[in-house]
Amino acid sequence: MSNCPSFDRCSSPLCPMDEESLTKGQWFPGEAICQRHWGQEGTPAWIKRQRRLNRRLREVKDPGYFTVSMLKVLHGSSVRTRGIDPNSRQSEEAWISGRLADRASTGNEARERGEIQPPSPGLAQESGEATPAGSVDKEVEREVASG
Ligand SMILES: [Zn+2]
Repeated sequence: MSNCPSFDRCSSPLCPMDEESLTKGQWFPGEAICQRHWGQEGTPAWIKRQRRLNRRLREVKDPGYFTVSMLKVLHGSSVRTRGIDPNSRQSEEAWISGRLADRASTGNEARERGEIQPPSPGLAQESGEATPAGSVDKEVEREVASG
């Protein structure tokens, strides 16, 4: 039976068959990704995101690690996406709240992927929108990138 846990010997640090890895596992881009076949259930989104990160970050030397909770909020990724530097004191919670703040500012993900240009400040004023607190997010990005 392919759905027997002992049949599915997985070399990924994050495996849905391994409960502990879902809360404590740390995965660095380039490491193994669970190869289990999901059939009707479909592959969990966070596993697809691991695959995407492996492609995007393969040239990056120290991309940091990702946990399942982090991957779950990582809706968009780019070559600039970074996990947590293992030498830093950044917590998983801090990374996630930074990520959520990033998503809250309009169109930021599409911008990360280079699909759209940042809106000009003039336009936002005309439409009466408040300027998103984008400077804070950029601060976070830089910290992570320099680590
Ligand atoms: Zn697995």
